[in-house]
Amino acid sequence: MEARGLLKELLEMPGGDQILKCIQCGTCTGSCPMAQAMDYGPRRLFAMAKGGDFHEVFKANTYWICASCYFCTVRCPRGIKITDIMYALKRMAVARGYAPRERSVYIYQAFKETVEEYGRLSEAKMMQKYLKKSPLDAVKNASLGLKLLLKRRMELKVRPVKDPAAFKAMLTKARELAREGEAPAGSSGLCGIKGDIL
Ligand code: SF4
Ligand code: SF4
Repeated sequence: MEARGLLKELLEMPGGDQILKCIQCGTCTGSCPMAQAMDYGPRRLFAMAKGGDFHEVFKANTYWICASCYFCTVRCPRGIKITDIMYALKRMAVARGYAPRERSVYIYQAFKETVEEYGRLSEAKMMQKYLKKSPLDAVKNASLGLKLLLKRRMELKVRPVKDPAAFKAMLTKARELAREGEAPAGSSGLCGIKGDIL
């Protein structure tokens, strides 16, 4: 399918048409805790999709890395539901046989384990877990990690929720409901991924 057809398909998907409102300000990528592990941040990915470069869009790991934390969405000055666009692009990629690369699964696992342990995201802890699972990336990203630390874009201090045990109990209950089919679609696990990864 040609670029124009693929763009039309994206625009017709839930939330997909919002990509046209993007002004390329970069707030999303600047806010994204996972950006350093992405081939392209959301801003650049959206520019490529709008420009019809879907071959590169489908090859990118961006939406597999996206942890659905919604930081970008709450900060976008155009009110774009960025996470919805991520889901739309992911669905299009899957329909064309693009699968996540192994390291994408590792970052999902690192995100999940961090949130399960502390009740909220700690970027430093998540990256620590991710790099343990994928040590080659540690070498590749060491200088980037240092830069983020120096610019205070990555906090070393972990700030758990007040009652991590209660949070874990809530997660267990949510999983039970998902298994019983009572949970709403897409809530079967953290960041919209299935229980076998979680
Ligand atoms: S924050 Fe919103 S408007 Fe800015 S680049 Fe990202 S999607 Fe586009
Ligand atoms: S929802 Fe995805 S793209 Fe947006 S800030 Fe979170 S990880 Fe980054």
